[in-house]
Amino acid sequence: MRKEMKAAVFRGIGQIEVADVPVPQPEAGEVLIRVGYCGICGSDVEAVHTGMYEPGLVIGHEFAGVVAEVGPGVEGWQVGDRVVVNDAIPCGACGPCREGWLDGCEGLTMVGVTHDGGMAEYVRVVARGLHRLPEGITLRQGALVEPLAVALHGVRRSRLRPGDQVLVMGAGPIGLLTLQCALLAGARTVVVTEIDPTRAALAERLGAAAVLDPARENVGVALRRLIGGQGPDVIYICTGAPAPYRDAVSLVRKGGQVFLLGLCVEPVEADFLSVVLSELCIEGSLAGRAEFPAAIDFIAQGRVDVESLISHEISLDEVVSQGFERLSTPGSKAVKILVHIGGEG
Ligand SMILES: [Zn+2]
Ligand SMILES: [Zn+2]
Repeated sequence: MRKEMKAAVFRGIGQIEVADVPVPQPEAGEVLIRVGYCGICGSDVEAVHTGMYEPGLVIGHEFAGVVAEVGPGVEGWQVGDRVVVNDAIPCGACGPCREGWLDGCEGLTMVGVTHDGGMAEYVRVVARGLHRLPEGITLRQGALVEPLAVALHGVRRSRLRPGDQVLVMGAGPIGLLTLQCALLAGARTVVVTEIDPTRAALAERLGAAAVLDPARENVGVALRRLIGGQGPDVIYICTGAPAPYRDAVSLVRKGGQVFLLGLCVEPVEADFLSVVLSELCIEGSLAGRAEFPAAIDFIAQGRVDVESLISHEISLDEVVSQGFERLSTPGSKAVKILVHIGGEG
């Protein structure tokens, strides 16, 4: 085994460096993964802009790879197993964990956020965070399991019922996956808002009844035309831009739900009087720990299209120039950028 490897390291605000770092050693209960593919997430771009990560962190929480080494005491996993890694791992010991609310864990390990992640040749993870990839899924598709699990978790937590009218605001990767999950869950109509033409076209291809450009038309008026005057039963906000958070409260039907999946770091002013007068529900969700097995099955069964979301495949050396810069440039036609690090497709 080599001593050094290449990794994308966060150095400070706006600074990602592909550097040589030591290959991590798996400890008891851990395995070493040789990473095949790792996606760049919108939250990575946001965190790098705002400096939300600890300097020195190896980024990357959307990845798939092959077990390269098994640490002491690990059972059920062997060198060569193809896996995806659940990025949100509960501690198992805190109050919420002991009560069974694992998503409420106070000591949550987030691979690629609080601990070194998978935008590297190798990553060390606890074995209980692993999920096996079935034969029908490539490592390339495997890198999309985590974002699909995030979308699925949101749709499962939301109040969506078969026959509901849905609005998805933002057609980035999470929005495009939420659109597909809402259709799987029985949504009657899913309308999407998106300003970027590449993403808008993709949303239409993946099943949106209509895609509205909020910069060109009044979304409220268009929704009345498309789904009637009541408004959508559920609105999923899948963008970090502040405007949808403000607008959703007035677009959703009375008694409806605004469900937040995006990370908006700016404070947003919204009409909370409408929340009371219209008896609205506003709810959010983080990550998709429990939904990994279902996400894997949906990809294997071909019921969710993740391939169409992959707009670019780049190398680890291109992470900054072809990855982060592209995702920070409007009109760059980037949707999901995957870093191909090693091994099979
Ligand atoms: Zn992510
Ligand atoms: Zn815990």
